Amino acid sequence: MKTILHWFKHDLRIHDMPGLACINPQDCLLPVYIFDPRHRVKLTYGFPKMSDHRLAFLEQSVQSLKEKLQLLNSDLLILEGKPEELLPILAKQFNVHAIHTEKEIAHEELQVLRNVRNSISIPVIEFESRTMFTESQLPWNVDQLPSVFTEFRKGVEKHIGLNHVVLAEHSLPQFPESCNLNEIENLWHGPYAKHRPLHPKSAIRGAGGEDEGLKRLHKYTYGMHGIATYKETRNGLIGEAYSSKFSPWLALGSLSAKNILKTVNDYEQEFGANDSTYWMKFELLWRDFFQWTFKKHGNVCFQAGGFTGIEKKTRHNPDTFDAWRFGETEDAFVNANMKELYLTGFMSNRGRQNVASYLVHTLKLDWRIGAAWFESRLIDYDVASNWGNWMYIAGVGNDPRQDRVFNTKRQADMYDPKGEYQMLWLHELMAKNDY
Ligand SMILES: Cc1cc2nc3c(=O)[nH]c(=O)nc-3n(C[C@H](O)[C@H](O)[C@H](O)COP(=O)(O)OP(=O)(O)OC[C@H]3O[C@@H](n4cnc5c(N)ncnc54)[C@H](O)[C@@H]3O)c2cc1C
Repeated sequence: MKTILHWFKHDLRIHDMPGLACINPQDCLLPVYIFDPRHRVKLTYGFPKMSDHRLAFLEQSVQSLKEKLQLLNSDLLILEGKPEELLPILAKQFNVHAIHTEKEIAHEELQVLRNVRNSISIPVIEFESRTMFTESQLPWNVDQLPSVFTEFRKGVEKHIGLNHVVLAEHSLPQFPESCNLNEIENLWHGPYAKHRPLHPKSAIRGAGGEDEGLKRLHKYTYGMHGIATYKETRNGLIGEAYSSKFSPWLALGSLSAKNILKTVNDYEQEFGANDSTYWMKFELLWRDFFQWTFKKHGNVCFQAGGFTGIEKKTRHNPDTFDAWRFGETEDAFVNANMKELYLTGFMSNRGRQNVASYLVHTLKLDWRIGAAWFESRLIDYDVASNWGNWMYIAGVGNDPRQDRVFNTKRQADMYDPKGEYQMLWLHELMAKNDY
């Protein structure tokens, strides 16, 4: 009997897990999550890499995974420290045969994985569980990936297709008998995030964790049939119904992208396909596209010139940046969106496009400080979707039009014609030191 350690990262779920599906049912599974202190450092910009909002959602998701595993006669070891220091200790203590973990695409995560590999002599096997399609399914090598989305979409639709998807199925191998939690050092003593009740106006109505994510998936499809009108409502700004709100659960892997695709396909079988059901798949393709784009281009995605290398002239002005991030600019629509982000950890896609464009094209600040602020505050923060969308708007990424400038006044007139969204947020008070 072997012991496999699954190191959970952004795959905080039990369903559709290729890394669990390939474990022999006779073997043991040691599930582990590690809170890495490097994720909470203060950036040179003066704010933390991860705000309390994000941390609270993450902590809920990890605790919920532990509770779920316990209900299934397993458990989750939650530790705090550096994975490259803790995993070798666990591997020795529990005679671990191999480590399974999610495949990474971004620089920092890849570096940690390299450190782990260098500190350990057992195999560390990576599994693709984040995207709808695996790298080997793509009709291109990643280094040949098209840089324009339409080309990517057409290639995937033609060569893979969107209407059939198989989820990884498995039973849960037993927890190692030899594992006594009392003997383990570096156990996590959190939660550390300040307890904050859900903001009464928040568009995200659920807590972190797989059950809440699956509940949202079911509600948006079969419950409220939001999926059947998604294309017409997705540019909304207020409430839980205008778009799916799958992103916070997707970002932490509490929902699998494949599972969403399968649910939409099943829904189409039962209730019929239309432009809206297709559009959900279209948006999920954007998500896959940014993941592969990141894999292709690597670290340059964090540089001012993005992967085009075109560096634009920017200003360094901390007061202007503060006015943007705290919702105190001259633009009421931008301010309302920035307040929503600050107070809830979420903002609509329409809002994100406008505030990003405003920072880049009106305030002429370096797009990377905006991306870093989003990284700190968004509960759905995803490295590829965030930095990829910011590069796109700054004209240093995938946009063939180069400079995507949004006229925020015109956008407010179109999407908030009665000013209801602005009224909802502009009068909210904010403690500016609430990290
Ligand atoms: C500047 C900027 C930064 C962004 N940062 C992030 C981020 O950190 N994390 C994140 O998940 N999304 C990010 N997005 C994309 C998008 O705004 C969110 O995915 C979306 O608003 C989440 O709400 P939803 O789940 O209701 O989306 P829906 O409209 O219901 O879409 C369903 C799903 O499709 C995917 N999707 C939709 N639009 C995009 C897009 N433009 N790019 C990539 N995937 C998309 C998401 O996974 C989303 O959950 C960003 C967009 C911009 C313009």
